[in-house]
Amino acid sequence: MTHVLTALAWPYANGPRHIGHVAGFGVPADVFARYMRMRGHDVLMVSGTDEHGTPILVQADSEGLKPAEAAAKYNRIIVEDLDALGLSYDLFTRTTTGNHYKTVQELFSTLYGNGYILQKKTLGAISPSTGRTLPDRYIEGTCPHCGFDSARGDQCDNCGRQLDPVDLIDPKSRINGETPKFVEEDHFFLDLPAFADALHAWLDTRTGWRTNVVRFTKNLLDDLQPRPISRDLDWGVPIPLDGWVDRKDKRLYVWFDAVIGYLSATIEWARRSGDPDAWQRWWRDPEAVSYYFMGKDNIVFHSEIWPAMLLGANGEGAKGGEPGALGKLNLPTEVVSSEFLTMEGRQFSSSRRVVIYVRDFLERYSPDALRYYICAAGPENQDSDFTWAEFLRRNNDELVAGWGNLVNRSVAMAAKNFGAVPEPGELEQVDRELLEATRASFDAVGDLIGQNKVRAAIGEAMKTVAAANKYLADTAPWKMKEDPKRQGTVLFTVLQAVSDLKTVMSPFLPHSSQKVHELLGGEGVFAPMPRIEEVDDLDEGAGATDGPYPVLTGDYSDVPKWESVPLVPGTPLDKPVPVFAKLDPSIVDEEIERLNS
Ligand SMILES: [Zn+2]
Repeated sequence: MTHVLTALAWPYANGPRHIGHVAGFGVPADVFARYMRMRGHDVLMVSGTDEHGTPILVQADSEGLKPAEAAAKYNRIIVEDLDALGLSYDLFTRTTTGNHYKTVQELFSTLYGNGYILQKKTLGAISPSTGRTLPDRYIEGTCPHCGFDSARGDQCDNCGRQLDPVDLIDPKSRINGETPKFVEEDHFFLDLPAFADALHAWLDTRTGWRTNVVRFTKNLLDDLQPRPISRDLDWGVPIPLDGWVDRKDKRLYVWFDAVIGYLSATIEWARRSGDPDAWQRWWRDPEAVSYYFMGKDNIVFHSEIWPAMLLGANGEGAKGGEPGALGKLNLPTEVVSSEFLTMEGRQFSSSRRVVIYVRDFLERYSPDALRYYICAAGPENQDSDFTWAEFLRRNNDELVAGWGNLVNRSVAMAAKNFGAVPEPGELEQVDRELLEATRASFDAVGDLIGQNKVRAAIGEAMKTVAAANKYLADTAPWKMKEDPKRQGTVLFTVLQAVSDLKTVMSPFLPHSSQKVHELLGGEGVFAPMPRIEEVDDLDEGAGATDGPYPVLTGDYSDVPKWESVPLVPGTPLDKPVPVFAKLDPSIVDEEIERLNS
């Protein structure tokens, strides 16, 4: 048994999340975590909402809310959506907790003490008319990288690049349109060049990574520059140094605190579990492994910056140093990055309303229909396009006609003719072949999930579904009225295949595997689901969270093993309800109209 940290990118709490967000890493990471639990590993799946930085402030301004109110509003919406999709987080929390603030400040202090944080003069913007600091979000201009004309002082919403206000072409104050004046002021920088050798050495020990991540990261390491970690902002984690900690206009840069969230969320989980030191099993045990899931726009933070921060906190960069109060921490085992999902040939864009939110999707379709599409056709290794026609086809032709049909036909025939799982007679060659194929699919599908090849993995599972459907068609048990013994053997065989497949399918399609489990006469929880719990902040003072907030958590300790379990003849069976819903082709036009309206 290994301790497996499954770390998912932190969704930004400035609006509801669309299906592109969950396609890239939410569902694939959940498939991985569920599978690893079934293999007997001690998995901890953590994340939360990323609630600091300019985009939250801009969203709050636009809704007339305080930043904390906007963050709380979208935190709740996102928690509910991830719950509805069945993502089995051990803890999905947020970055505005006292625990997170403490952990971030602890790591900053360790990095600072080890000499990896530089204080440098840099150009900051002030308003000429008031003489006051002009926060990043109030500066707008043209992006020097992509030419987008409303890029903000710290980020371009078009190309996603991080910026400095001084980088903007023709910068203007969004408050009164004046051109800001740039004056020298102090800011803090992470000394990335001090980690060049250590990062190269670490990267050389990594195996099995997707080639795009390795190539991208190696390119990054060729040109490391100190990276700013503080901003002119009044919303975020205060800088824990004398003369800085009380300043209202300087905060740590949002990305610096967000990547530390993986660690702080694990610590929060441990504190809530009643064993405050339990987090160390995933972060300090040298045998533990950690998998980080994200979209390709976030590779840099996980394959370069976060490992550099961990090296610095461990005292393992070029300047040496000592581990801090948290001790020596594990670097990522693997950085699993996905590509982008587009929608009907266009990029998702909330502002241009090319979007389908998770919530709206799940109001009309089942979570497993979406999960199936994402697993089978998601942006795993290349950008992929979501179309409603393809969603309809995959749902009706593959999920309903393939897997759903296999379940319903075999359970219905056994229920009608035997009222129970029939007692098999002697197996024939064709029966043994099917059962060997379903048993073999545990290794085949499992190996692929273990390598995060979810598309290939579900393809392999669906091949076994097709083999079972072919077995039914070839043996035609509905024509065996005269030979109940053979009919019972055939139906037993196909039900055993269905039972194995419900296990193999459960990491991808947990909701329907639970239903299949019940159709086969099983009791209790087969595929455990997360639940929303209202909790109080563990710490007073620091942090910004007022009152109870929702976290996603769950008890996944009793998952079934990743193996074939013999069916028990005589288990009563009822006439089955359909596992999946067939969709009417008219949804395609309806949805496209909705998108264009
Ligand atoms: Zn840009």
